[in-house]
Amino acid sequence: MTVRTRFAPSPTGYLHIGGARTALFNYLFARHNRGQFVLRIEDTDAARSTGESLNAILEGMLWLDLKWDEGPYYQSKRLGLYREAAAQLLEKNLAYRCWCAPEELEERRKLALKENRPPRYDGRCRTRPAQPAQPFAVRFRVPPGKTFFNDMIKGGISFEHAELEDLVLLRSDSTPTYNLCVVVDDAAMRITHVIRGDDHIANTPKQILLYEALGGTVPSFAHLPMILGSDKTRLSKRHGATSVMAYKEMGYLPHALVNYLARLGWSSGDEEIFGMNELIEKFSLENVGKSSGVFNPEKLLWLNHHYIKTTPAGELKPLLLQHLKTLGVDAARDERCEAIISTLRERAKTLKEMAEASLFYFREKISYEEKAAKKFLTHEILEPLKLLSKKLKKVEPFSEDNVKKAFDEVLEETGLKLGELAQPVRVALTGGTVSPGIFEMIAALGKEKTIERIEESLTPAAAWSSPRPGKEE
Ligand code: GLU
Repeated sequence: MTVRTRFAPSPTGYLHIGGARTALFNYLFARHNRGQFVLRIEDTDAARSTGESLNAILEGMLWLDLKWDEGPYYQSKRLGLYREAAAQLLEKNLAYRCWCAPEELEERRKLALKENRPPRYDGRCRTRPAQPAQPFAVRFRVPPGKTFFNDMIKGGISFEHAELEDLVLLRSDSTPTYNLCVVVDDAAMRITHVIRGDDHIANTPKQILLYEALGGTVPSFAHLPMILGSDKTRLSKRHGATSVMAYKEMGYLPHALVNYLARLGWSSGDEEIFGMNELIEKFSLENVGKSSGVFNPEKLLWLNHHYIKTTPAGELKPLLLQHLKTLGVDAARDERCEAIISTLRERAKTLKEMAEASLFYFREKISYEEKAAKKFLTHEILEPLKLLSKKLKKVEPFSEDNVKKAFDEVLEETGLKLGELAQPVRVALTGGTVSPGIFEMIAALGKEKTIERIEESLTPAAAWSSPRPGKEE
Protein backbone atom coordinates (compact mmCIF):
# COMPACT_ATOMS: atom_id res chain seq x y z
CA MET A 1 0.00 0.00 0.00
CA THR A 2 1.33 3.42 -0.93
CA VAL A 3 0.77 5.88 1.85
CA ARG A 4 -1.21 8.91 0.71
CA THR A 5 -1.95 11.83 2.99
CA ARG A 6 -3.64 15.11 2.33
CA PHE A 7 -3.86 18.63 3.66
CA ALA A 8 -7.32 19.99 3.09
CA PRO A 9 -7.53 23.65 4.10
CA SER A 10 -10.61 25.78 3.62
CA PRO A 11 -9.50 29.07 2.04
CA THR A 12 -11.29 31.27 4.52
CA GLY A 13 -8.24 32.88 6.13
CA TYR A 14 -4.46 32.83 6.14
CA LEU A 15 -2.38 29.71 6.84
CA HIS A 16 -2.24 29.65 10.61
CA ILE A 17 0.19 27.92 12.92
CA GLY A 18 -2.18 25.02 13.62
CA GLY A 19 -2.91 24.45 9.93
CA ALA A 20 0.78 24.58 9.11
CA ARG A 21 1.52 21.92 11.71
CA THR A 22 -1.22 19.70 10.27
CA ALA A 23 0.25 20.20 6.79
CA LEU A 24 3.74 19.48 8.10
CA PHE A 25 2.75 16.23 9.85
CA ASN A 26 0.96 15.04 6.71
CA TYR A 27 4.00 15.96 4.65
CA LEU A 28 6.45 14.24 7.00
CA PHE A 29 4.35 11.12 7.32
CA ALA A 30 4.04 10.81 3.53
CA ARG A 31 7.74 11.46 2.95
CA HIS A 32 8.83 9.10 5.72
CA ASN A 33 6.78 6.32 4.15
CA ARG A 34 7.82 7.21 0.60
CA GLY A 35 4.23 8.03 -0.12
CA GLN A 36 2.41 10.99 -1.59
CA PHE A 37 1.14 14.20 -0.13
CA VAL A 38 -1.98 15.68 -1.72
CA LEU A 39 -3.21 19.25 -1.42
CA ARG A 40 -6.96 19.75 -1.60
CA ILE A 41 -8.71 23.07 -1.29
CA GLU A 42 -12.07 22.77 0.46
CA ASP A 43 -13.73 25.77 -1.11
CA THR A 44 -17.36 24.71 -1.41
CA ASP A 45 -18.42 27.50 0.92
CA ALA A 46 -18.41 30.14 -1.79
CA ALA A 47 -19.47 32.89 0.60
CA ARG A 48 -16.44 32.43 2.84
CA SER A 49 -13.75 31.24 0.42
CA THR A 50 -11.56 33.88 -1.16
CA GLY A 51 -8.79 33.88 -3.75
CA GLU A 52 -6.75 35.96 -1.36
CA SER A 53 -6.90 33.28 1.35
CA LEU A 54 -6.07 30.62 -1.19
CA ASN A 55 -2.96 32.52 -2.26
CA ALA A 56 -1.97 33.12 1.36
CA ILE A 57 -2.23 29.38 2.10
CA LEU A 58 -0.22 28.36 -0.96
CA GLU A 59 2.35 31.05 -0.21
CA GLY A 60 2.68 29.84 3.38
CA MET A 61 3.17 26.22 2.33
CA LEU A 62 5.75 27.12 -0.28
CA TRP A 63 7.57 29.34 2.19
CA LEU A 64 7.76 26.42 4.64
CA ASP A 65 8.89 24.22 1.75
CA LEU A 66 6.01 21.77 2.19
CA LYS A 67 5.82 20.64 -1.39
CA TRP A 68 2.78 18.64 -2.38
CA ASP A 69 2.90 15.87 -4.94
CA GLU A 70 -0.61 16.26 -6.26
CA GLY A 71 -3.13 19.04 -6.48
CA PRO A 72 -4.23 21.49 -5.53
CA TYR A 73 -7.59 19.91 -6.18
CA TYR A 74 -10.49 22.28 -5.77
CA GLN A 75 -13.73 20.97 -4.33
CA SER A 76 -15.65 23.77 -6.05
CA LYS A 77 -14.74 22.09 -9.33
CA ARG A 78 -15.91 18.66 -8.22
CA LEU A 79 -19.51 19.40 -7.23
CA GLY A 80 -20.89 16.89 -9.73
CA LEU A 81 -19.09 14.06 -7.95
CA TYR A 82 -20.64 14.90 -4.60
CA ARG A 83 -24.13 15.16 -6.09
CA GLU A 84 -23.64 11.84 -7.79
CA ALA A 85 -22.63 10.23 -4.50
CA ALA A 86 -25.72 11.67 -2.80
CA ALA A 87 -27.90 10.33 -5.62
CA GLN A 88 -26.30 6.93 -5.22
CA LEU A 89 -27.09 6.91 -1.50
CA LEU A 90 -30.67 7.99 -2.17
CA GLU A 91 -31.05 5.20 -4.62
CA LYS A 92 -29.84 2.64 -2.11
CA ASN A 93 -32.14 4.14 0.50
CA LEU A 94 -29.11 4.95 2.64
CA ALA A 95 -30.11 8.58 2.41
CA TYR A 96 -33.50 10.28 2.21
CA ARG A 97 -35.08 13.52 1.12
CA CYS A 98 -35.83 16.01 3.86
CA TRP A 99 -38.43 18.68 3.21
CA CYS A 100 -38.16 20.47 6.51
CA ALA A 101 -37.72 24.19 5.91
CA PRO A 102 -34.71 25.88 7.56
CA GLU A 103 -37.01 28.07 9.68
CA GLU A 104 -38.86 25.02 10.97
CA LEU A 105 -35.61 23.29 11.83
CA GLU A 106 -34.42 26.37 13.66
CA GLU A 107 -37.60 26.58 15.66
CA ARG A 108 -37.38 22.93 16.67
CA ARG A 109 -33.73 23.37 17.56
CA LYS A 110 -34.55 26.28 19.86
CA LEU A 111 -37.39 24.39 21.47
CA ALA A 112 -35.14 21.38 22.11
CA LEU A 113 -32.55 23.59 23.75
CA LYS A 114 -35.22 25.24 25.86
CA GLU A 115 -36.46 21.84 26.98
CA ASN A 116 -32.93 20.64 27.65
CA ARG A 117 -33.00 18.07 24.87
CA PRO A 118 -30.12 17.61 22.43
CA PRO A 119 -30.93 19.82 19.41
CA ARG A 120 -30.65 16.96 16.94
CA TYR A 121 -32.78 16.47 13.85
CA ASP A 122 -35.63 14.14 14.83
CA GLY A 123 -35.63 12.12 11.60
CA ARG A 124 -39.25 12.96 10.76
CA CYS A 125 -38.66 12.92 6.98
CA ARG A 126 -37.30 9.39 7.07
CA THR A 127 -40.79 8.10 6.56
CA ARG A 128 -42.55 11.17 5.22
CA PRO A 129 -44.30 10.79 1.89
CA ALA A 130 -42.78 12.74 -1.02
CA GLN A 131 -43.63 16.44 -1.18
CA PRO A 132 -43.12 16.98 -4.91
CA ALA A 133 -43.56 20.72 -5.02
CA GLN A 134 -41.11 21.50 -2.25
CA PRO A 135 -37.35 21.88 -2.26
CA PHE A 136 -35.56 19.19 -0.28
CA ALA A 137 -32.22 18.49 1.32
CA VAL A 138 -30.64 15.03 1.27
CA ARG A 139 -29.92 13.49 4.64
CA PHE A 140 -27.89 10.44 5.51
CA ARG A 141 -29.84 7.72 7.24
CA VAL A 142 -27.64 6.98 10.23
CA PRO A 143 -28.04 3.26 10.99
CA PRO A 144 -28.46 2.00 14.54
CA GLY A 145 -25.42 0.75 16.42
CA LYS A 146 -22.08 2.25 17.24
CA THR A 147 -18.87 3.05 15.42
CA PHE A 148 -15.44 2.31 16.71
CA PHE A 149 -12.14 3.48 15.30
CA ASN A 150 -8.59 3.19 16.43
CA ASP A 151 -7.09 6.65 16.28
CA MET A 152 -3.34 6.46 15.64
CA ILE A 153 -2.73 9.16 18.23
CA LYS A 154 -5.64 9.02 20.65
CA GLY A 155 -6.27 5.27 20.71
CA GLY A 156 -9.67 3.57 20.54
CA ILE A 157 -12.70 5.86 20.24
CA SER A 158 -16.29 4.78 19.92
CA PHE A 159 -19.48 6.71 19.19
CA GLU A 160 -23.06 5.61 19.75
CA HIS A 161 -25.04 6.32 16.62
CA ALA A 162 -27.91 7.50 18.79
CA GLU A 163 -25.73 10.54 19.46
CA LEU A 164 -25.45 11.36 15.76
CA GLU A 165 -28.18 13.08 13.83
CA ASP A 166 -29.09 12.22 10.26
CA LEU A 167 -26.60 14.58 8.71
CA VAL A 168 -27.36 16.71 5.71
CA LEU A 169 -25.38 15.64 2.63
CA LEU A 170 -26.87 18.06 0.12
CA ARG A 171 -28.57 21.28 1.09
CA SER A 172 -31.84 22.22 -0.58
CA ASP A 173 -29.91 24.40 -3.04
CA SER A 174 -28.02 21.18 -3.89
CA THR A 175 -24.70 22.37 -2.47
CA PRO A 176 -22.86 19.49 -0.77
CA THR A 177 -21.79 19.61 2.87
CA TYR A 178 -18.32 19.18 4.33
CA ASN A 179 -18.67 15.56 5.47
CA LEU A 180 -19.88 14.31 2.10
CA CYS A 181 -17.18 16.15 0.13
CA VAL A 182 -14.40 14.93 2.42
CA VAL A 183 -15.45 11.30 2.15
CA VAL A 184 -16.01 11.36 -1.60
CA ASP A 185 -12.63 13.04 -2.10
CA ASP A 186 -10.62 11.00 0.36
CA ALA A 187 -11.97 7.89 -1.35
CA ALA A 188 -11.39 9.21 -4.88
CA MET A 189 -7.92 10.42 -3.98
CA ARG A 190 -7.11 7.09 -2.35
CA ILE A 191 -6.10 8.74 0.91
CA THR A 192 -4.77 6.12 3.30
CA HIS A 193 -4.18 8.29 6.38
CA VAL A 194 -6.27 11.25 7.50
CA ILE A 195 -4.12 13.36 9.81
CA ARG A 196 -5.92 16.46 11.08
CA GLY A 197 -6.77 18.54 14.13
CA ASP A 198 -8.80 16.88 16.88
CA ASP A 199 -11.53 19.46 16.36
CA HIS A 200 -12.63 17.02 13.62
CA ILE A 201 -12.98 13.97 15.89
CA ALA A 202 -16.74 14.33 16.10
CA ASN A 203 -16.91 14.21 12.29
CA THR A 204 -14.99 10.98 12.06
CA PRO A 205 -17.80 8.48 12.91
CA LYS A 206 -20.08 10.22 10.43
CA GLN A 207 -17.40 10.00 7.79
CA ILE A 208 -16.72 6.34 8.54
CA LEU A 209 -20.42 5.58 8.12
CA LEU A 210 -20.41 7.42 4.81
CA TYR A 211 -17.37 5.51 3.59
CA GLU A 212 -19.09 2.30 4.40
CA ALA A 213 -22.30 3.40 2.72
CA LEU A 214 -20.42 4.44 -0.41
CA GLY A 215 -18.39 1.23 -0.44
CA GLY A 216 -15.01 2.91 0.07
CA THR A 217 -12.09 1.71 2.16
CA VAL A 218 -11.99 3.54 5.47
CA PRO A 219 -8.61 5.28 5.91
CA SER A 220 -6.67 5.36 9.17
CA PHE A 221 -7.24 8.41 11.32
CA ALA A 222 -4.81 10.40 13.43
CA HIS A 223 -6.15 13.40 15.30
CA LEU A 224 -3.64 15.95 16.48
CA PRO A 225 -4.21 17.64 19.81
CA MET A 226 -4.88 21.36 19.60
CA ILE A 227 -2.13 23.90 20.01
CA LEU A 228 -2.68 26.02 23.09
CA GLY A 229 -1.55 29.50 24.05
CA SER A 230 0.36 30.27 27.25
CA ASP A 231 -2.88 30.46 29.27
CA LYS A 232 -3.83 26.95 28.05
CA THR A 233 -6.68 28.16 25.87
CA ARG A 234 -6.75 27.44 22.16
CA LEU A 235 -4.03 29.38 20.36
CA SER A 236 -5.45 32.59 18.99
CA LYS A 237 -4.42 36.12 18.10
CA ARG A 238 -4.55 37.02 21.77
CA HIS A 239 -1.36 34.99 22.19
CA GLY A 240 0.51 36.79 19.41
CA ALA A 241 0.89 36.19 15.70
CA THR A 242 -0.84 33.05 14.45
CA SER A 243 -0.31 33.56 10.73
CA VAL A 244 2.62 31.69 9.24
CA MET A 245 3.50 34.58 6.96
CA ALA A 246 3.60 36.98 9.91
CA TYR A 247 6.62 34.97 11.09
CA LYS A 248 8.29 35.57 7.75
CA GLU A 249 7.73 39.29 8.19
CA MET A 250 9.07 39.16 11.72
CA GLY A 251 12.31 37.72 10.39
CA TYR A 252 11.96 34.01 11.10
CA LEU A 253 13.65 31.43 8.92
CA PRO A 254 11.15 28.99 7.42
CA HIS A 255 13.04 26.01 8.70
CA ALA A 256 13.12 27.39 12.25
CA LEU A 257 9.32 27.43 12.18
CA VAL A 258 9.20 23.94 10.64
CA ASN A 259 11.55 22.61 13.33
CA TYR A 260 9.49 24.32 16.01
CA LEU A 261 6.15 23.03 14.69
CA ALA A 262 7.52 19.50 14.36
CA ARG A 263 8.44 19.51 18.03
CA LEU A 264 5.06 20.91 18.99
CA GLY A 265 3.47 17.56 19.66
CA TRP A 266 6.10 15.21 18.28
CA SER A 267 9.39 14.21 19.87
CA SER A 268 12.41 12.04 19.27
CA GLY A 269 14.27 11.59 22.54
CA ASP A 270 15.53 14.88 23.95
CA GLU A 271 16.60 16.28 20.62
CA GLU A 272 15.46 19.75 19.65
CA ILE A 273 17.25 20.50 16.40
CA PHE A 274 16.15 18.68 13.28
CA GLY A 275 16.93 19.42 9.66
CA MET A 276 14.20 18.55 7.17
CA ASN A 277 15.81 15.28 6.11
CA GLU A 278 16.19 14.23 9.70
CA LEU A 279 12.55 15.04 10.39
CA ILE A 280 11.51 12.92 7.43
CA GLU A 281 13.71 10.09 8.57
CA LYS A 282 12.58 10.15 12.21
CA PHE A 283 8.94 11.19 12.03
CA SER A 284 6.32 8.73 13.21
CA LEU A 285 2.80 9.12 14.51
CA GLU A 286 3.64 6.88 17.50
CA ASN A 287 5.78 9.68 18.83
CA VAL A 288 3.07 12.30 18.64
CA GLY A 289 1.83 13.05 22.14
CA LYS A 290 -1.79 12.74 23.21
CA SER A 291 -1.91 16.04 25.02
CA SER A 292 -1.93 19.55 23.63
CA GLY A 293 1.31 21.42 23.09
CA VAL A 294 1.67 24.97 24.35
CA PHE A 295 2.97 27.44 21.81
CA ASN A 296 6.16 28.91 23.22
CA PRO A 297 7.38 31.98 21.31
CA GLU A 298 10.68 32.09 23.25
CA LYS A 299 11.58 28.60 22.14
CA LEU A 300 10.76 29.48 18.55
CA LEU A 301 12.98 32.54 18.84
CA TRP A 302 15.76 30.41 20.32
CA LEU A 303 15.52 27.99 17.39
CA ASN A 304 15.48 30.88 14.96
CA HIS A 305 18.66 32.24 16.47
CA HIS A 306 20.20 28.80 16.24
CA TYR A 307 19.47 28.65 12.52
CA ILE A 308 20.63 32.23 11.96
CA LYS A 309 23.94 31.29 13.58
CA THR A 310 24.36 28.05 11.66
CA THR A 311 22.92 28.66 8.18
CA PRO A 312 25.64 29.55 5.66
CA ALA A 313 25.83 33.33 5.12
CA GLY A 314 25.30 32.79 1.39
CA GLU A 315 21.91 31.22 2.13
CA LEU A 316 20.90 33.93 4.56
CA LYS A 317 21.83 36.68 2.13
CA PRO A 318 18.73 36.60 -0.12
CA LEU A 319 16.51 36.50 2.99
CA LEU A 320 18.33 39.43 4.56
CA LEU A 321 18.07 41.37 1.30
CA GLN A 322 14.28 41.10 1.46
CA HIS A 323 14.22 42.55 4.95
CA LEU A 324 16.63 45.30 3.94
CA LYS A 325 14.35 46.16 1.07
CA THR A 326 11.45 46.74 3.43
CA LEU A 327 13.76 49.14 5.28
CA GLY A 328 14.44 50.96 2.01
CA VAL A 329 17.92 49.54 1.33
CA ASP A 330 18.75 47.78 -1.90
CA ALA A 331 21.91 45.81 -1.17
CA ALA A 332 21.49 43.20 -3.90
CA ARG A 333 24.73 44.18 -5.58
CA ASP A 334 26.69 44.84 -2.41
CA GLU A 335 29.48 42.31 -2.23
CA ARG A 336 29.97 42.84 1.46
CA CYS A 337 26.68 41.16 2.47
CA GLU A 338 28.06 37.81 3.53
CA ALA A 339 30.82 39.39 5.61
CA ILE A 340 28.27 41.72 7.15
CA ILE A 341 26.03 38.76 8.05
CA SER A 342 28.94 37.05 9.77
CA THR A 343 29.44 40.06 12.02
CA LEU A 344 25.77 40.19 13.08
CA ARG A 345 24.58 36.61 13.39
CA GLU A 346 25.72 36.07 16.97
CA ARG A 347 23.45 38.84 18.21
CA ALA A 348 20.55 38.99 15.79
CA LYS A 349 17.80 36.57 16.74
CA THR A 350 15.70 37.39 13.69
CA LEU A 351 16.47 38.51 10.16
CA LYS A 352 14.55 41.68 10.88
CA GLU A 353 16.83 42.45 13.81
CA MET A 354 19.80 41.64 11.60
CA ALA A 355 18.59 43.97 8.86
CA GLU A 356 18.07 46.78 11.37
CA ALA A 357 21.47 46.20 12.96
CA SER A 358 23.12 46.19 9.53
CA LEU A 359 21.78 49.54 8.38
CA PHE A 360 24.88 51.46 9.42
CA TYR A 361 26.96 49.45 6.96
CA PHE A 362 24.91 50.73 4.05
CA ARG A 363 24.41 54.38 5.03
CA GLU A 364 25.77 57.09 2.77
CA LYS A 365 26.44 59.30 5.71
CA ILE A 366 26.62 58.54 9.41
CA SER A 367 24.71 60.66 11.87
CA TYR A 368 26.16 60.51 15.35
CA GLU A 369 24.24 59.85 18.50
CA GLU A 370 24.71 63.07 20.38
CA LYS A 371 25.75 61.56 23.69
CA ALA A 372 28.19 59.14 22.07
CA ALA A 373 29.81 61.84 19.94
CA LYS A 374 30.22 64.20 22.91
CA LYS A 375 31.82 61.52 24.99
CA PHE A 376 34.08 59.86 22.45
CA LEU A 377 34.75 62.23 19.55
CA THR A 378 36.93 64.56 21.61
CA HIS A 379 39.79 66.82 20.56
CA GLU A 380 42.28 64.44 22.11
CA ILE A 381 41.32 61.64 19.77
CA LEU A 382 41.75 63.71 16.61
CA GLU A 383 45.42 62.86 16.06
CA PRO A 384 45.13 59.13 16.84
CA LEU A 385 42.22 58.89 14.42
CA LYS A 386 44.27 60.64 11.73
CA LEU A 387 47.11 58.24 12.35
CA LEU A 388 44.77 55.25 12.19
CA SER A 389 43.31 56.46 8.92
CA LYS A 390 46.80 56.85 7.48
CA LYS A 391 47.72 53.33 8.49
CA LEU A 392 44.48 51.78 7.31
CA LYS A 393 45.02 53.28 3.86
CA LYS A 394 48.05 51.05 3.54
CA VAL A 395 46.34 47.87 4.76
CA GLU A 396 46.09 45.27 1.99
CA PRO A 397 44.23 42.94 1.95
CA PHE A 398 41.75 44.66 4.25
CA SER A 399 41.29 41.64 6.51
CA GLU A 400 40.35 41.47 10.18
CA ASP A 401 43.92 40.46 11.11
CA ASN A 402 45.55 43.23 9.10
CA VAL A 403 43.15 45.81 10.51
CA LYS A 404 44.09 44.64 13.98
CA LYS A 405 47.75 45.10 13.16
CA ALA A 406 47.12 48.71 12.10
CA PHE A 407 45.28 49.28 15.39
CA ASP A 408 48.15 47.75 17.36
CA GLU A 409 50.60 50.10 15.73
CA VAL A 410 48.49 53.14 16.58
CA LEU A 411 48.11 51.96 20.17
CA GLU A 412 51.83 51.43 20.38
CA GLU A 413 52.68 54.85 18.95
CA THR A 414 50.08 56.82 20.93
CA GLY A 415 50.13 54.89 24.20
CA LEU A 416 46.33 54.59 24.09
CA LYS A 417 44.50 51.50 25.32
CA LEU A 418 42.36 49.56 22.86
CA GLY A 419 39.07 50.80 24.34
CA GLU A 420 40.23 54.41 24.19
CA LEU A 421 40.68 54.11 20.46
CA ALA A 422 38.01 51.55 19.61
CA GLN A 423 35.02 53.45 21.06
CA PRO A 424 35.73 56.68 19.13
CA VAL A 425 36.28 54.63 15.99
CA ARG A 426 33.02 52.85 16.62
CA VAL A 427 31.18 56.17 16.92
CA ALA A 428 32.89 57.46 13.77
CA LEU A 429 31.91 54.36 11.81
CA THR A 430 28.48 53.55 13.15
CA GLY A 431 27.27 56.73 14.85
CA GLY A 432 26.85 54.92 18.17
CA THR A 433 28.67 52.85 20.76
CA VAL A 434 27.22 49.42 20.08
CA SER A 435 28.46 47.39 17.14
CA PRO A 436 29.89 43.99 16.30
CA GLY A 437 33.54 43.34 17.24
CA ILE A 438 35.56 46.29 16.05
CA PHE A 439 38.00 44.50 13.74
CA GLU A 440 35.50 42.23 12.04
CA MET A 441 33.13 45.15 11.70
CA ILE A 442 35.80 47.29 10.03
CA ALA A 443 36.81 44.47 7.70
CA ALA A 444 33.16 43.96 6.73
CA LEU A 445 32.50 47.68 6.30
CA GLY A 446 35.38 47.77 3.83
CA LYS A 447 38.39 49.96 3.34
CA GLU A 448 36.78 52.72 1.38
CA LYS A 449 33.87 53.33 3.73
CA THR A 450 36.01 52.98 6.85
CA ILE A 451 38.49 55.60 5.76
CA GLU A 452 35.77 57.86 4.40
CA ARG A 453 33.90 57.72 7.73
CA ILE A 454 36.96 58.23 9.90
CA GLU A 455 37.96 61.23 7.79
CA GLU A 456 34.45 62.57 7.88
CA SER A 457 34.63 62.48 11.66
CA LEU A 458 37.78 64.64 11.49
CA THR A 459 36.27 67.40 9.40
CA PRO A 460 35.18 70.65 10.93
CA ALA A 461 31.54 69.72 10.41
CA ALA A 462 31.99 66.69 12.61
CA ALA A 463 31.53 66.31 16.30
CA TRP A 464 34.17 68.30 18.08
CA SER A 465 33.91 71.49 16.05
CA SER A 466 30.34 71.87 17.09
CA PRO A 467 28.84 72.18 20.55
CA ARG A 468 26.01 69.92 19.35
CA PRO A 469 27.87 67.14 17.60
CA GLY A 470 26.49 65.83 14.39
CA LYS A 471 24.04 68.67 13.95
CA GLU A 472 24.39 71.80 11.87
CA GLU A 473 24.43 74.95 13.97
N1 GLU B 1 -11.30 21.72 5.50
C1 GLU B 1 -11.17 21.30 6.84
C2 GLU B 1 -10.56 22.42 7.68
O1 GLU B 1 -10.00 23.34 7.13
C3 GLU B 1 -10.28 20.10 7.02
C4 GLU B 1 -10.98 18.86 6.71
C5 GLU B 1 -10.26 17.59 7.05
O2 GLU B 1 -9.04 17.60 7.28
O3 GLU B 1 -10.92 16.59 7.06
O4 GLU B 1 -10.67 22.35 8.88
